[in-house]
Amino acid sequence: MKKIIFGCLALALLTGFSTGLSGCDVGSSSVSRSELKIGGKTMGTFYNIIVIGDYPGGQEQLRHEAEEVLDRVNREISFFDKNSELSKFNQHKSTEPFRVSQDVADVVIASLRAGKELDGAVDVTVGPLVNLWGFGHVKTETLPPTPDDSAIKAARKRIGLDKLHVSVGYSFAELKKDIPNLEVDLSTVGEGFGADKLAELMELRGIQNYMVSVAGAIRTKGLNSRGKDWVIAIEHPTAEQNVGQRLEVPVCTMGQAISTSGSYRNYKIDEKTGQRLSHIIDPATGKPITHHTVSVSVVGATALWTDAIDTGLMVMGSEAAIRFANERNMAIYTIVKEGNEFKAHYSRAMQKYLVCD
Ligand code: ADP
Ligand code: MG
Repeated sequence: MKKIIFGCLALALLTGFSTGLSGCDVGSSSVSRSELKIGGKTMGTFYNIIVIGDYPGGQEQLRHEAEEVLDRVNREISFFDKNSELSKFNQHKSTEPFRVSQDVADVVIASLRAGKELDGAVDVTVGPLVNLWGFGHVKTETLPPTPDDSAIKAARKRIGLDKLHVSVGYSFAELKKDIPNLEVDLSTVGEGFGADKLAELMELRGIQNYMVSVAGAIRTKGLNSRGKDWVIAIEHPTAEQNVGQRLEVPVCTMGQAISTSGSYRNYKIDEKTGQRLSHIIDPATGKPITHHTVSVSVVGATALWTDAIDTGLMVMGSEAAIRFANERNMAIYTIVKEGNEFKAHYSRAMQKYLVCD
């Protein structure tokens, strides 16, 4: 394995990214172009935008338009907003088709495709299991008792990508479920979709150099203010107990999307067994993943796609995920806890992104 350059400490802490990725400047150059930076809250997490040069109407217009875009995404796919299109579909306890916007259909199509490609490892209908283990929208004051096999079996009857269908015509898009109480939670792909929509806004406004992100899903284009490739830092924990103590691995995305799924921040300890329970559920077992892969980052064309598959690759674990990625020439970077250390393993296609100039 190639030596990895570590650098750009501190920035991640300042920018408030939640799952292991952050924008980061490395190296120095005399070229320094002006930039506009904004950030704020969305989808229960943070968004950030850096535009190199000017934005039509200036910084306030950028903020206004970005928040308009993100508000629309929330109205479409938020699981928590009971009035979103997705929530309405979830409340529609019927197997009759349900009209949705093209955006919602696009996100569901990508989720179904990712699920199919990853043999069901990422499954946007997995909500009942997520709830059962205490990570879902059904809020629990304390950790629920470890579910027994019959509860898991019952929850599994309510999930399955084969029970969810999308059809898109000239002027309509529809979702349909095979069982009335099927629930769809697009949270695991929502950040990627949000980042893509921000990138779309940049394109519409003719911006050539930018970085946009929603939590751990990032899109970049062109060059940064130093006239260099954008560098994104993958958070590399150094000690299990303290994620604040970490290194960061610079990745030059070269205009691609990158996102990370990680299990070291969102977990609970089962008080009875002392076992660490991840918020990522393996739909095949109905249980939280137990392997030692702590994060998977994926570089690809769209953040919707990378965000859809990073969770599934996380379920598969580093070894299987890298095999999968190498067979498809996909760029992925995984971090595995081996003893007391965190080790990096990545696919062949990832190598070129780890060399920044
Ligand atoms: P991460 O950034 O760590 O991937 P996300 O918030 O993107 O976290 O996605 C994790 C959330 O997705 C979980 O909190 C849960 O609601 C849901 N989830 C858990 N396991 C799966 C799975 N196998 N497929 C799809 N969604 C899942
Ligand atoms: Mg994801």
